[in-house]
Amino acid sequence: MTKPGKLIIFCAPSGSGKSTLVQWLMAAHPELHLAFSISCTSRPPRGTEQNGVEYFFISPDEFRQRVAADKFLEYEEVYEGRFYGTLKSQVDTQTQRGENVLFDVDVKGGCNIKDFYGDRALSIFVQPPSIDELRRRLVARATDTPEAIEQRVGKAAYELTFAPRFDHVVVNDDLERAKEEVYRLVSGFVNR
Ligand code: ADP
Ligand code: 5GP
Repeated sequence: MTKPGKLIIFCAPSGSGKSTLVQWLMAAHPELHLAFSISCTSRPPRGTEQNGVEYFFISPDEFRQRVAADKFLEYEEVYEGRFYGTLKSQVDTQTQRGENVLFDVDVKGGCNIKDFYGDRALSIFVQPPSIDELRRRLVARATDTPEAIEQRVGKAAYELTFAPRFDHVVVNDDLERAKEEVYRLVSGFVNR
């Protein structure tokens, strides 16, 4: 029988460099057998997003029905009117395939998953060196409007208050150093 996979939770204020670190980890270390958790969302697909790849895209009504039927391990209204949630069945399917499942969820969802799974889960908070640097990175990334950048920066101070609840905080100042730290933490946990 395949050994069931573990759970690895990454949370960070937007612009901290979480995607950069996670994408690098998955590409550089296939031996870690990492796979993204696929959440459900009530928002419509963007660009090239496909159902069952980035998310399971469901209607607000369907989302409510699944909440009522207790299908979610956790769910949050991350943006007004936009729900995101992790299905219990999806986590089971992925871990039973032997995948070590990576979660990219908001800070509250991350803490809830950690609380539920305890030692089977590793939670990592990626912290920017400062709020000013976070803003500079979002401006340099050039994927958001100035209003969206201010919204993300505005949320960061609140998100930073969750850092002490995580197993580890990785400060992403020097990228190469942060990559090594993330690798060390995740490989140590997966191979434990
Ligand atoms: P997140 O996924 O947390 O929103 P990204 O991975 O998209 O953040 O990173 C935000 C921007 O900052 C990107 O343009 C990325 O290339 C850059 N970046 C990531 N890490 C660093 C770092 N250590 N130093 C400087 N820039 C970084
Ligand atoms: P997006 O840019 O994809 O619309 O929004 C993503 C936001 O929702 C990010 O903050 C991401 O971490 C969060 N998110 C995605 N899936 C889930 C989930 O299943 N649960 C929770 N709590 N947050 C999620």
